[in-house]
Amino acid sequence: MAKNNGQRCSFCGREKNEVTILVAGIDAHICDQCVEQAYQIVQEELHHLEKKLDFELSENLKPKDIKAFLDDYIIGQDRAKKVISVAVYNHYKRLKFKPKEDDVEIEKSNIILTGKTGTGKTLIAKTIAKLLNVPFSIVDATVFTEAGYVGEDVESILTRLLQVCDYDVKAAERGIVYVDEIDKIARKSDNPSITRDVSGEGVQQSLLKMLEGTEVLVPPQGGRKHPDQKLVKINTKDILFICGGAFDGIERVIGKRMKRNAIGFKSHGEEQNIDKDNILKYVTHADMKAFGLIPELLGRLPILTYLDPLDKETLRNILTQPKNALIKQYEKLFEMENVKLTVDDDTLDLVVEKALENNLGARGLRAIMESIMNDAMFEIPSQKDIKKFELTREYAEKKLNNADFDKLKVA
Ligand code: ADP
Repeated sequence: MAKNNGQRCSFCGREKNEVTILVAGIDAHICDQCVEQAYQIVQEELHHLEKKLDFELSENLKPKDIKAFLDDYIIGQDRAKKVISVAVYNHYKRLKFKPKEDDVEIEKSNIILTGKTGTGKTLIAKTIAKLLNVPFSIVDATVFTEAGYVGEDVESILTRLLQVCDYDVKAAERGIVYVDEIDKIARKSDNPSITRDVSGEGVQQSLLKMLEGTEVLVPPQGGRKHPDQKLVKINTKDILFICGGAFDGIERVIGKRMKRNAIGFKSHGEEQNIDKDNILKYVTHADMKAFGLIPELLGRLPILTYLDPLDKETLRNILTQPKNALIKQYEKLFEMENVKLTVDDDTLDLVVEKALENNLGARGLRAIMESIMNDAMFEIPSQKDIKKFELTREYAEKKLNNADFDKLKVA
């Protein structure tokens, strides 16, 4: 047996001849394998520490600052931005609050947003997550069905959140989830007992606990849970849920309620003060209930707000003003080819008119701009001598006609 002078790793106890390298310290030794393991432990701990620091809401960030940040990215929607700034501020304040016995308990401020498609609901949720630097995921409520039926279990809502933060459970537990199309799981009929409503009320029921805060066993790969699967436990008590939906037709529900209230209570003059172009601003939890969301679910979504429809001026501003406005993005792309792009006002008007005509909301702006710009973006990178590109209404109209853009019209 080879002599080893009695030297061994002070961590794992292996002798010198059992390891590849043994590093000597003042009074101890460490082998190469223990060095490697220690390195991994240090890395993991540092990672958690960084995450922890990241996710603390800065002391200086007040609701006004949150709103100011949103203003950089979202045009208009002042009411929604204000309501959400306060809700988010209180949510993260609640995380720091360590209640003593018989102290007031601060409830979660999950949010429900209503507004036409393409008015900025998802954008607001996404921008909040960017500001707070917390994991953020978007899920579509329509893919969920009650357990036992074809579809996904609601627990897989959290799968996406886990995936975006690399399965860091601590980080996921402080994240934000945007549940889109919440209106699509509204109860189909007024009488809940007539038929099974597997994708409506059943799903609403299964969301309740998760929204309120509970330990959920999450399938790490999503889909349906099955017995052999290793599940990850996530506590949802500090996850902020923002639910959004277009709630098509809710204006009628609101109108009906307001008319009922007006009879007998309000004078004729007050009724005339109603903003008929934006009935959504009068939305209440009662209207959501009449639309088909169950009261228990609404109780767990205490903050309700609405997004305004986008008018001409707002759409025009969306094209040019936000930090990452579409026109700014095209200018940047052209600048990278050493070409100066200019877009005249008439062209902006045309793009806005088309978006309004096609009922596409702000989401349509990008599709319209792509149709206009595609040929130029195809040609210009191969043209060495070109230094500027002036986008005019005449050019834009020609491109839109060629692209048969009007066929994309949404009814
Ligand atoms: P939805 O209300 O359907 O969730 P989104 O938030 O997904 O709509 O909006 C679609 C796109 O339209 C966004 O990515 C953004 O580019 C643009 N957009 C919509 N509303 C606004 C707004 N108020 N300010 C700036 N951009 C907006």
